[in-house]
Amino acid sequence: MFKKLNILDESDKILRKTSVDAKLPLSQEYKDLIERMITELTYSQIEEYEKKYDLRPGMGLAFPQLGINERIIVIVHEYEDGKFQNYVFVNPKIVSSSNEIIAAEAGEGCLSVNRDVEGHVPRNARVTVEGYDVDGNKIKVRAREELSIAFQHEIDHLNGILFYDRIDKNKPFYSEDEIRLI
Ligand code: ZN
Repeated sequence: MFKKLNILDESDKILRKTSVDAKLPLSQEYKDLIERMITELTYSQIEEYEKKYDLRPGMGLAFPQLGINERIIVIVHEYEDGKFQNYVFVNPKIVSSSNEIIAAEAGEGCLSVNRDVEGHVPRNARVTVEGYDVDGNKIKVRAREELSIAFQHEIDHLNGILFYDRIDKNKPFYSEDEIRLI
C-alpha cells in the first residue's frame, strides 16, 4: 500500500540547517524510508502514478526535506524513456567538478518549493561525487548534465541551501553565450 511521504515546505527552518553525517551502516528504519523515497520519486515520473497519487514530478529528495538533518540523498534519474537509475548517497562529497557552467533552461524545481521560481541556477556541468551506500561501502559516480544538476541540488539541501539562493536577483537569466542552457 503506497503512502505518500510528508515533505517539508520551504518555510520550515529544518531546511535551512546544515545536516550532520549519518552513522553507517544505516538503520533498517532509514533503509525503509529510502525505499519509500525511491518509490515516490519513481512514481512521480510515471504519468499514470503521478495522476493516481496526485504527486508532483521530482527526481531527487534529501533527508532534511523529510525532517531529518542527516546527510543522505536519493536521486531517481530517468536516463531513457521509462528507464530509471537510482542513486542513494550517504555523506556525499563533490570531489571534483568541471569548470564549465550550465543551467536548466526551464529553471529548477524542488518538492519543498510549492511555487514557480523563475531564473537560471548556475551549476557545474560535471561533478564527481563520492560517498557511501546504505551498508557503508564506498561509492563514487561521475555525473553530467541533468544528473550533475540533481546531485548539486540535493547536496545543497544538506547545507541548508535552496536552489533559488543561487539565482542572481539582479540578473536571473543568462543567454546561451554566457552559460550553456540544457
Ligand atoms: Zn530540492
